[in-house]
Amino acid sequence: MAKDIIMSGMRPTGKLHLGNYFGALENWVKLQNEYNSFHAIVDWHALTTAYEDTSDLQQNIMDVALDWLSAGLDPDKCTIYVQSEVKEISELFLLLSMITPLSWLERCPTYKDQLKQLEGKNIANYGFLGYPCLMATDILVFKAGYVPVGEDQIPHLELSREIARRFNHIYGDTFPEPEALLTEAKVLPGLDGRKMSKSYENAIYLSDTPEEIQKKVGTMITDPQRIRKDDPGDPGVCSAYALHKVFTKLTELEDTAEKCRGGAIGCVACKRNLAKNLIDFLEPIRAKREELVARPDTVRDILSEGARKAREAAARTLEEARKKMNLNPRSE
Ligand code: SF4
Repeated sequence: MAKDIIMSGMRPTGKLHLGNYFGALENWVKLQNEYNSFHAIVDWHALTTAYEDTSDLQQNIMDVALDWLSAGLDPDKCTIYVQSEVKEISELFLLLSMITPLSWLERCPTYKDQLKQLEGKNIANYGFLGYPCLMATDILVFKAGYVPVGEDQIPHLELSREIARRFNHIYGDTFPEPEALLTEAKVLPGLDGRKMSKSYENAIYLSDTPEEIQKKVGTMITDPQRIRKDDPGDPGVCSAYALHKVFTKLTELEDTAEKCRGGAIGCVACKRNLAKNLIDFLEPIRAKREELVARPDTVRDILSEGARKAREAAARTLEEARKKMNLNPRSE
């Protein structure tokens, strides 16, 4: 029986951090065993907000590909490609743009959010307004039945479902309405206790060296009430402990909390233990990454093969959509 199709992507904004890993990548690695998975490095999406300076774009694409492969996405199990190498997506995007009412795009909550967040940046552009439609195209072009998303992405998915419904209503059944595959995503605190994010400069990257990790963990905010190392502490208000909860084994974790409360461990030693656990966790990913960095042609070949497979699937859907719209079928 054919596996259900899922589609998901990430913008190429550079090296991935632990927040990206636990927010999406960890799940994708599991899902590739059960689903026919398409994963895109969505470079056109990057251009919707970062069109002025594209000098890092190719390096960023490579970094995302390296991190995906190092973290366990397997090109024998899933399709990994760069969005702009699948031109069929752009044509279907154009066709779907014809039937997408402006009001749907303008009311999209993430559009409004981004406008606010990126205030000061000149993004009042046609491409930026249309990006939810491009995102819908990314999904519909493979007739994906499911999209692994967190709660915050549901409004986008709703728009994809509406666009599919509208197309089907006007031209006849073509697209399945994609459903959310709600995945349990851990929101990781960064070095300063806020959500881990590249823009907050509080992230630990999958590719960080042990030395970098030790240094970063050393700067983490702990219980501000603790002045001396034998003062009783409160792990509940400590960012380092929040990371301990993810990377430290249960028995060691309980022991850490007890010692912290009893003033039996200093923050320096406690953070040293955390750094060690983080380094151990990241070691296989880092080793794989190093191996791939030395073979850039292999990574490029994987992306080319992924794009070829994605184009094949996308071309079938595009042809069907063109026929339904009475555009001249190219294959005849
Ligand atoms: S001992 Fe550990 S858990 Fe307690 S405040 Fe210090 S770093 Fe945080």
